[in-house]
Amino acid sequence: MDSAAQKHAASLTAIFDHISAVGARAGEGVTRLAASAEDGAARAIFADWMARGGARLAHDAVGNQFACFDWAGENAAWIFAGSHLDTQPRGGRFDGTLGVLAAGCAALDLHTEVQADRFRPRHNLAVVNWTNEEGARYQPSLTGSGVFSGALPLREALSLTDGAGITLSDALAAIGIDGETGGVPPRPKAYVELHVEQGRILTVAGRRIGVVEGTWAARKMMVRWIGRAAHTGPTPMADRRDALLAAAQGVAAFEALIAARHPHLHRSAARLVIEPNSPNVVVERATVWFELRGLDVAELDRAGQPVLAAFEKAAAETGTRLEIIADTLREPAGMDIGLMAITGEAARACGFEPLPLRSVAGHDAVALQNSGVPSALIFVPSVDGIAHHPEELTHPEDVEAGLAVLTTVLRRLAEGDFDAER
Ligand SMILES: [Zn+2]
Repeated sequence: MDSAAQKHAASLTAIFDHISAVGARAGEGVTRLAASAEDGAARAIFADWMARGGARLAHDAVGNQFACFDWAGENAAWIFAGSHLDTQPRGGRFDGTLGVLAAGCAALDLHTEVQADRFRPRHNLAVVNWTNEEGARYQPSLTGSGVFSGALPLREALSLTDGAGITLSDALAAIGIDGETGGVPPRPKAYVELHVEQGRILTVAGRRIGVVEGTWAARKMMVRWIGRAAHTGPTPMADRRDALLAAAQGVAAFEALIAARHPHLHRSAARLVIEPNSPNVVVERATVWFELRGLDVAELDRAGQPVLAAFEKAAAETGTRLEIIADTLREPAGMDIGLMAITGEAARACGFEPLPLRSVAGHDAVALQNSGVPSALIFVPSVDGIAHHPEELTHPEDVEAGLAVLTTVLRRLAEGDFDAER
């Protein structure tokens, strides 16, 4: 690595450590929920860092932040690069944050060359921090990129409420975001995101750079069993309609059925809400969030049929009523072929043999790609595949590799390399 690249890797480490301290508690990772005070503080550090480097800052009405480098004039097309600064509760430092800050470093690197007249881009560049990618505080996830790409109406997004009944609109206003400011750039010609893999495919293959070909499909079900509240003491057993018992049977049947018939599907029941949630009241309502992920939508469809029958059986056996609140299928996405080729070449130019792979999780790059913005997603290794956990880690040499490849890709895109591919 040359000295300029080393300097930029060092400046990435400095800003990364600075932002990672926001919302951090010893042993508990980082908690920076979307539009919280901690998220606001991280956004301010990012904005200040970019502004000092010469960027013009803007944000849209859903709070997506844009650090804009107007290199090629107002009529030129835009290239976006970024990810998200929000985290899960007790999340890791790298998920999302690495992508935003690496894109910032790459942009500053290129901007230095533009100012020295060593680089004359044909396109403008914006570094983007997308609002509420994680979906921890507000569901659905990918809120900011969903609004920008047109998949989620703005009004719907702003009226989402968190567990405490606070709307996204009010939460954003509390951190100083109330409507659009500063000239938000138009839909870009291409979007590039660097992200940690959150799996162990790269490590097992002994590679540093993954080029994502596409994502897995996902089926998400929100299921509720409705029984009847009753005293846990005197109520005769035969009279009880216990929604928690039904949910427990449903969760166990879900795992048993999928494990037996579709063991390769990733699955979870990761959230349970019971009401009234008192030790002395038989549970009246139990709501469970189920998730199935695999490569093939048809398989997810098939796999769900006996599961729904098992949910009905759990209801019948407990005297409760089943309600399917939501049951959505997310198609697998394919990333842009031309950008995959450019990313692969950039990796090789930096000395890394890229590994094509599929992403199990959704990312902002997938939301943009699905809306018709050609997008690339670059992975760097996650130690032991740990994700959404305080021990999440990507080694410094892998961060440097990712930064080098991202910078190379953005240079080529800003030069207009992608235009020839179209
Ligand atoms: Zn992420």
